[in-house]
Amino acid sequence: MTRKIVVIGGVAGGATAAARLRRIDEKSEIVLFERGEYISFANCGLPYYIGEVIKKRESLLVQTVEGMSKKFALDIRNKTEVKAINRDRKTVTALNVTTGDIYEESYDVLVLSPGARAIIPAFEGINEAKNIYTLRNVPDTDYIKAVVDEQHPKQAVIIGGGFIGLEMAENLAHRGIQVTVVELANQVMAPLDFEMASIVHKHLKAKGVQLILGDGVQSFADEGKKITLTSGKELNSDLTILSIGVKAESELAVDAGLLVGPRGGIVVDEYLQTSDESIYAIGDAIEVQDYIFKHQTMVPLAGPANRQGRIVADNIYGKQVPFKGTLGTAIAKVFDLTVAVTGHNEKSLRKLGVPFESVHIHPISHAGYYPGASPISLKMTFNKEDGTIYGAQAVGMDGVDKRMDVIATAIKGGMNVHDLAELELAYAPPYSSAKDPVNMLGYVAGNIVDGDVKVVHYNQIDELVNSGALLIDVRDPHERDNGYIPNSINIPLGEIRDRLAELPQDQTIYVSCQVGLRGYLASRILEQHGFEVFNVSGGYKTYAAVYNR
Ligand code: FAD
Repeated sequence: MTRKIVVIGGVAGGATAAARLRRIDEKSEIVLFERGEYISFANCGLPYYIGEVIKKRESLLVQTVEGMSKKFALDIRNKTEVKAINRDRKTVTALNVTTGDIYEESYDVLVLSPGARAIIPAFEGINEAKNIYTLRNVPDTDYIKAVVDEQHPKQAVIIGGGFIGLEMAENLAHRGIQVTVVELANQVMAPLDFEMASIVHKHLKAKGVQLILGDGVQSFADEGKKITLTSGKELNSDLTILSIGVKAESELAVDAGLLVGPRGGIVVDEYLQTSDESIYAIGDAIEVQDYIFKHQTMVPLAGPANRQGRIVADNIYGKQVPFKGTLGTAIAKVFDLTVAVTGHNEKSLRKLGVPFESVHIHPISHAGYYPGASPISLKMTFNKEDGTIYGAQAVGMDGVDKRMDVIATAIKGGMNVHDLAELELAYAPPYSSAKDPVNMLGYVAGNIVDGDVKVVHYNQIDELVNSGALLIDVRDPHERDNGYIPNSINIPLGEIRDRLAELPQDQTIYVSCQVGLRGYLASRILEQHGFEVFNVSGGYKTYAAVYNR
């Protein structure tokens, strides 16, 4: 018997599911509903078209309705919004937004991929504002680009310093607009920890972006041209982008009585089946399992949505493929920097109450003697007892993406920090070093797990020193000209063996250097002479990223 499968949502998850459904079975009837005009467009490319990095609008339209209908024998109904799911009769009620026609379409199996919409709080004055936009789809992009092209705004305000907000900041700056980013938290890019985000803060400022942290919108006035922040600060804006997060479009599911979780996402089992066995759901609208700790969470990213699109099609045809959860691996370009994350950062581990250790390293992207190398700041969180990797963050100009992908793959492969040290990665001077930054992370974290070195962190050392701890800066004296941790004393690494007599045997000693390596060497020397020693993780570089000294 031929089955009729109806898919709601025709972009990342929905279009992938429809194409895979057809690849598996030539006979099924597949109907795809999409509220908007366009299907399968490149959401992730939208900011770059506004910035004119992507020059042609057509490049955003990965598939057209005609092309995809033909290629995959799909019945695609764009400009048609599904208004209700009638589970009792196994139909959906659809509205043709062009003609106003309303009709019912039956299904044997229904796939929901309605995505998530931008959160728009009811700020005072927002309804009267004429210059506030959110960015999700091609029409949003057209509006914003038309404003930039035709009205030549001088000042833009981005509300929200997440991935999309910062991509927009870069692209509007690229169009010659003075950009201000307003972020309620004390840092941009929540998946980074504060010290890693601090590197991004510095870079944004260096690129001329005005960054306002720890402040949010109080109200809009003068048709949106004036913004008052909760601090009382006032901003002028010709163009405002609201990018403070997204909310699952789960209303259809709620109205149909499907189980929805506390975060507003549709609840699915590991096979992506909702609480109704004829209905599956995927993408930004669902709650997923955290890959590492197995709790429910929401991760609105294109990679998981696409994977789920493929898996759901397999499961509809009886393959029983589980979706194993989401790590939250993500990457963004922020002007000249690349920022990438996977798994859990320190903030999320603290929230979960999971004990962890972390390491910071600052290796260079490839061999220093080959031109063009630049530093990568890497942080990894892990279990100090057994070396399980919990997550990583990286910020740098080059080679960030491949390091993050290797670590994300290692986590999925069940590897621990010692396994990172063992990885045999491609090396030649233009690409890496014989000890790749990922190997280095493995060595540094492995030393901690093995008890060969103990570390303290940038945010602990001031308090320790202020309460009388001895901190030895083992860099060369001239390096201190560019800054040092206050109240540290300087004994260069090369002199340490000869000056052991100066050091107190009855006191814990803290050591620091520029990036953590010489501190580690000093730790090893001192420990073997009977001292209790802690090294400052990431050295002065991590410390200075935050305290900017
Ligand atoms: P969507 O792709 O949003 O598709 C849902 C579709 O369903 C929408 O087109 C909507 O119109 C339609 N729909 C909803 N309700 C109905 C209804 N009742 N009837 C008919 N149609 C309906 N992710 C990354 O991993 N990397 C990136 O670099 C990245 N950049 C991004 C940049 C931007 C500007 C945006 C907006 C998103 C970005 N994302 C990125 C996120 C990524 O695009 C989403 O995670 C992904 O598109 C989710 O897929 P989805 O199928 O769940 O939802």
